[in-house]
Amino acid sequence: MTTLYCAQWILPVATATIDDGAVAVDGSMIVATGARLELIKQFPEAEVRDFKEAAILPGLINAHSHLELTALRNYLDPEERDFFAWLRKLTAARLERMSPDDLYVSAAWGAVEAARAGVTCVGDASDAARTSLAAVRDVGLRGTVYQEVFGPDARSAREQFERLRDKVDELRGAGNERVRLGVSPHAPYTVSAPLLELVTDYALAENLSVMMHAAESVAETQLMRDGTGPFAEGLAQRGIEWRAPGVSTVQYLAHLGVLSARPLLAHCIAVDEADVVTLRDEGARVAHCPKSNAKFGHGRAPYESFLRHDLAVGFGSDSVASNNTCDMLEEARFATLLSRASIGEMMTGRMVDAGDALRTATTGGARALEVGHQTGALAAGMQADLAIVSLAGAHQLPVYDPATALVFASSGRDVLLTMVAGREVFRDGRVVTVDEERLRARMKEIARKLEGQS
Ligand SMILES: [Zn+2]
Repeated sequence: MTTLYCAQWILPVATATIDDGAVAVDGSMIVATGARLELIKQFPEAEVRDFKEAAILPGLINAHSHLELTALRNYLDPEERDFFAWLRKLTAARLERMSPDDLYVSAAWGAVEAARAGVTCVGDASDAARTSLAAVRDVGLRGTVYQEVFGPDARSAREQFERLRDKVDELRGAGNERVRLGVSPHAPYTVSAPLLELVTDYALAENLSVMMHAAESVAETQLMRDGTGPFAEGLAQRGIEWRAPGVSTVQYLAHLGVLSARPLLAHCIAVDEADVVTLRDEGARVAHCPKSNAKFGHGRAPYESFLRHDLAVGFGSDSVASNNTCDMLEEARFATLLSRASIGEMMTGRMVDAGDALRTATTGGARALEVGHQTGALAAGMQADLAIVSLAGAHQLPVYDPATALVFASSGRDVLLTMVAGREVFRDGRVVTVDEERLRARMKEIARKLEGQS
């Protein structure tokens, strides 16, 4: 049974915008895109769903999230001027105060928020991958959930690695055809060089995707370049030996062989032109998280350089504990404005435009998560992952170019429908796959618990 999803504008992203168009969906697949009248002729039996003054685009991709931390939204803001105090409060809340069910609810609510904002696919880093996998699967999104591993002390590398391997073994079969498992050595300042090497070899042998935080802060650069700064002091206080490699994070990871696993690297702020070339040559991928980076005062990644070198780059919200929303249209707008504001490209070259940002939010994210063959564009033979966004709002009219209106005048709150593999996950104002009201009530309960004990 074919259904035609029609709207005033279809943005396949990989090909030109279609005015008054339709997307034909059969089962989990897109079978055709084109002008509405032509597709009605081609599929005379199809059910027609008309969204009128709206745009149909590929499902938005959030290439870097921590869904399990959704309950910590708005909770850590007083600490954000001090990244270490922020990390400490986060760790204490997550480890000591949240029960396994709290973590599930938190992750599921994050997936609900994503679905409501037109996000169909996530790259999610989690310390409790089983829980996050279940949440992504239950809400009905696509994604990769990366089981995190920590361990800055080289002496315990083998032990930490074996624990990771056991967790991954236990998780085999927990995903499905849409939700995959990966591994995430957290960051260069929390994972020792020997542990990074063990995890890389393991990921290559087992064909597991790797995600890592990299080149995020000045403190990390200081640790890498000359072994000074707060991260170095923190390691010294714990009696952990650290020999600074004297190079950038990217060159450090290249030297250790980590880049041979073509990891997805979140942030990549402290990267120079040579680093970007290294990332491209090694086939590494990037999650650009401009709002999280700005909120922490970490700086900004050279987004325009990633585009110029044709890196596989997607947008990431990072955790909503640091963002504070999962909204990829807002992230696209922010990335574009920040790029233009920072370097005044009017004077030096082509400015990042709405088309660039939409590509990053869709096909770029799909490439970053290695699902570009399935999703990230509207075309026959692709999975039916799409977002339908109203362009009829007071804040959007009049619309001359739908891509411009989507990036500069729209947000996730304008989404009317989100579909993953042909399944309508969000429609008519609600996520239909889970009991949103129960989750909402539980989220408030978790907040009361966290507040009461803080
Ligand atoms: Zn992160």
